[in-house]
Amino acid sequence: MALMITDECINCDVCEPECPNEAIYLGKEIYEIDPHKCTECVGHFDEPQCVQVCPVACIPVDPKNVESKETLWEKYHRLQAVIPIIAARSN
Ligand code: SF4
Ligand code: SF4
Repeated sequence: MALMITDECINCDVCEPECPNEAIYLGKEIYEIDPHKCTECVGHFDEPQCVQVCPVACIPVDPKNVESKETLWEKYHRLQAVIPIIAARSN
C-alpha cells in the first residue's frame, strides 16, 4: 500500500529528500506522495523513511492504494528498471 500525506503536513521539507524513490513532491499546498512510485520503502529500507522523519506524524497508509508486499516488490523492480533508462536518456 502506498502512503499518503494528510493536511496536517506543515511543509517542513524533511521527508522529500529521504525518499529513495523520489515519490514525494510539493503539491499545490502541501507535500504529496505519488502512489505509482511509493513502495513503502520496500526494496530500500525496513521502515518507511518518510514516516520516520515526519515531525507531525501525518503520513498514514493510503486506503485507496492497498497493495500486498508482493505488489510492492514488483513496483520496486519496475522502478529500478526505469531509473537507468531515464539516466541514460539524460546523458
Ligand atoms: S514510504 Fe518510502 S517510498 Fe513511500 S513515500 Fe515514504 S520514503 Fe518514499
Ligand atoms: S515530514 Fe511531514 S510535515 Fe514535513 S513535509 Fe513531510 S509530510 Fe509534511
